[in-house]
Amino acid sequence: MTTKNQNLSKLFASDTFADMVRNKLIKTVEDYKASNPQKEIHMMAWGDTSYPLPAKVVAALVDAATKLGHQSTYTGYGELEGNIKLREAICNNYYKDCGIDLKPEEIFVSDGAHSATFDIQALFGLDNVIALQDPIYPPYLEANLLAGRNKIIYLECNEVNNFVPELPQSKVDIIYLCFPNNPTGGVATKEQLKAFVDYAINYNSIIIFDAVYSTFITDPNIPKSIYEIEGATKCAIEIGSFSKMAGFTGLRLGWSVVPVALTLESTVPGELTEMCRISQSIRFWGASNLAQQGGIAALSCQQECQEIVNYYLENARIFKEGLEAFGLTCFGGTNNPYIWVKGPEGMNSWEVFNQLLFKANIVGIPGSLFGSSGEGFLRLSTLCRRENIEKAMQNL
Ligand code: PLP
Repeated sequence: MTTKNQNLSKLFASDTFADMVRNKLIKTVEDYKASNPQKEIHMMAWGDTSYPLPAKVVAALVDAATKLGHQSTYTGYGELEGNIKLREAICNNYYKDCGIDLKPEEIFVSDGAHSATFDIQALFGLDNVIALQDPIYPPYLEANLLAGRNKIIYLECNEVNNFVPELPQSKVDIIYLCFPNNPTGGVATKEQLKAFVDYAINYNSIIIFDAVYSTFITDPNIPKSIYEIEGATKCAIEIGSFSKMAGFTGLRLGWSVVPVALTLESTVPGELTEMCRISQSIRFWGASNLAQQGGIAALSCQQECQEIVNYYLENARIFKEGLEAFGLTCFGGTNNPYIWVKGPEGMNSWEVFNQLLFKANIVGIPGSLFGSSGEGFLRLSTLCRRENIEKAMQNL
């Protein structure tokens, strides 16, 4: 008889993030709506964007779609690593601006950072010790559990360390870092990231750095990329995305950087980059050609994209002020679209969630769903429309 994937089965039996959201969070909101049909609910739970795409991106998408409809301009499969023009634009328009020199062959275009998170772990052995921030963006943990890794340690992120964890106490092989952080809204300074890069170099570890919220950084002292830190190309993979930077959550486009200089035990420079190419060729044959044309356009109009990001940042500023005026302690919300709300003393995350839903009709995500250190907190996303922010403020 056919056997099942035990790792998947174990995840299925436990509460995955998606299940907790579906079975408890959405159900609670639906039940509340059913018994309070006159109430308008303000969904500030999802990290999904709401602002339309920049006009130049739309024009590029229309043009690319039109070309697909004509014999002379039709194109099919592209390069599996991603359209070379897009990879060049990622190097020249995105990284060069931060003073970083990367080569297109070090960039792997993906259909979003979410799947890149899953794909990247396929490069590493199952015996590696993994360090994860707690609280954490759940796919890092779940992708590793699904693959069968079980040596996992947690780096606590709390008010005391301003949501930037201390270095691991013992040797770990892979450290996942996400800055600007989802869910805590935290950001890491150059010195803090340098300490992790130095650790990784000293211990022959690697860092997987999720930078999908990089363009929310307005403070010039906060690095947008791990490669702003000297030596990081020797020890870090970076994951990027067009989702929050240009409104591509539905179009699906991201990238991973696997630098040639990065080596693992018994690999030579360039080998891991080549392994990534092979792994990508096994899993999929490149991202949608339409989305990639949109990505090239987005990188040619970064100012327009930034205006959208600034709109969300203003949402965050307004809403954080409102929450604080209401008496709540808040973190994040600057250089980051997420506000990490601390519930009153003694209240757990679900109680904070219920209070905000029942009293102000505002829906966030209980911090405990992101890990035990998230207990007592609630994550609010400000990637919504300004009208929602204003109405939610009135309810407060
Ligand atoms: N990484 C983090 C930290 C995120 O918050 C998200 C989405 O919310 C992703 C990755 C996934 O991004 P994408 O839409 O590119 O798959």
